[in-house]
Amino acid sequence: MINYNLRCHNGHEFDSWFQHSQAFETLQANQLIACPICDSKQIVRGLNCPNIAPNLNDTTAKNAREYAKQMRQKILNEFLNAGDNFADMARQYHQQWQNDGTALHQGLYGTIQLDEAVELHEEGIDIIPLPKNFLEPEN
Ligand SMILES: [Zn+2]
Repeated sequence: MINYNLRCHNGHEFDSWFQHSQAFETLQANQLIACPICDSKQIVRGLNCPNIAPNLNDTTAKNAREYAKQMRQKILNEFLNAGDNFADMARQYHQQWQNDGTALHQGLYGTIQLDEAVELHEEGIDIIPLPKNFLEPEN
């Protein structure tokens, strides 16, 4: 279940639960969502996520930042930067792992195109997307 903050074309804001994001999009496309105030069927999603933001207290946010920082440091210190060769090297590592159970290196990071990422996934190679600029030093 997912909670969306919604807004009608008259500016009324309300929120509603949906099975998943696709369910919302289908209902929205077929004008099956109505504003509870003016019954408008022109509904758009608001920008904020009220189901997440109010629960994110200072400690949680601080822990998340600390965790991200540790993850960034671990990747930069211990993982090999494969750059644009990430997909090829991931395959090579995976092959090595399958051959004799040894890892050539603890981990890899680099850049990859979406279609390559899909291919790796289909080949059973796990990768984790990181936010853009995640590995750049904090300002
Ligand atoms: Zn309305």
